Amino acid sequence: MRSIISVYKIGNGPSSSHTVGPYNAAEYFKEKYPDADAYKVICYGSLAYTGEGHGTGKAILSAIPKAELILNTTETDLPHPNTMDFIAYKESTEIGKMRIMSVGGGSIRIDGEMSEEDIDVYPEKNFREISELCKKDNISLKDYIFSHESEKLRPYLIKIWHTMEECVQRGLVAEGILPGGLNLPRKAKSLYTMRCRNESSDIAMDRTIASYAYAVNEENADEHLVVTAPTCGSCGIIPSIFYYMRHDKGYSEDEIIDALAVAALIGNVIRTNASVSGAECGCQAEIGSACSMAAAGFAYLNELSIDEIECAAEIAMEHHLGLTCDPVKGLVQIPCIERNAVAAMRAINAVNLARFLSPTKQISLDEVITTMYETGIDMDERYRETAHGGLSQIHGIYSKYGPEFGDCFFERKKL
Ligand code: SF4
Repeated sequence: MRSIISVYKIGNGPSSSHTVGPYNAAEYFKEKYPDADAYKVICYGSLAYTGEGHGTGKAILSAIPKAELILNTTETDLPHPNTMDFIAYKESTEIGKMRIMSVGGGSIRIDGEMSEEDIDVYPEKNFREISELCKKDNISLKDYIFSHESEKLRPYLIKIWHTMEECVQRGLVAEGILPGGLNLPRKAKSLYTMRCRNESSDIAMDRTIASYAYAVNEENADEHLVVTAPTCGSCGIIPSIFYYMRHDKGYSEDEIIDALAVAALIGNVIRTNASVSGAECGCQAEIGSACSMAAAGFAYLNELSIDEIECAAEIAMEHHLGLTCDPVKGLVQIPCIERNAVAAMRAINAVNLARFLSPTKQISLDEVITTMYETGIDMDERYRETAHGGLSQIHGIYSKYGPEFGDCFFERKKL
């Protein structure tokens, strides 16, 4: 498996595969052909269907300002649902062409090329092999990770963590309407403020974590800087739980960094054996993966055993199987923001259940990851980030706003 470093990437929202990946691809292509006087970029598949709502064109143009952009929804023979062709011209003559795939979480794959990200640093290929090795050598998952990775990992994770913290903090104070035309008001601040009213500590904890998730995902929807965890659409789950553990429960930064590493290891196993791309496997690959990663990290912070950590990650993924990607208006807002808050609470429930269920569990993490991939491949294209099915087909008309929390009422009208 590759280094876990590329599981977390810092970039602008709202979609890692539709903004961070295309931006990285455009930057890469421009560096290859700096002398070109004109560029053409053709986006296919999911990038063509939801590129407008997800801000793909804006991301590409911020790297290559004068590029001619074409959204091609007719070509179906594609190596990946997020495929782009980049073409460079000099004096009207084509001087270079490259096919680049945005494969999820901001990562790109260049047709016929191998990048530094593709180099394997772990001989193990799945969680069973990792678990067996750790038990044989009597080491923790954290020790396993840091013994394989370079010295760059810890400083990188510290930078990632600080970016996540800043994102929560910015999102908790921001107000206003999110861009894109859904007229969705930001809710994180209201949710955070209301969290302690006559509530049990469990409800207060849920509301606090939900407010952190809203804060991060509203920052993402506003196209601000976030961390892919493992994607932009699912970027609020890990920070919300880890921020709670750091700032409400007093865990040290070192402990959070170790938990981020354990969470990334699960993300690495998932992207190696399945996918973290909504365009490839639906929302189960994004929110399901993030929930599984967060559960593993949270279980690690709670000093659960390797078997219990695996069980928590498995539960978190299992109950997202079949989850479709159907963003309303092609924006990463409905159902995405709320879905992050729900998944954060689900990750905590998975850990609580894992303590009890681990000794009798019948399905391994590897098995549920394979199932997620097979389910995703079988999923109708309408439910894989094309905004052609499910909730995306409901006309959203915001008729009135709740007086206190800025809630919207959705008039349901099928197309
Ligand atoms: S529905 Fe899920 S996969 Fe689709 S854009 Fe939203 S968060 Fe991403």
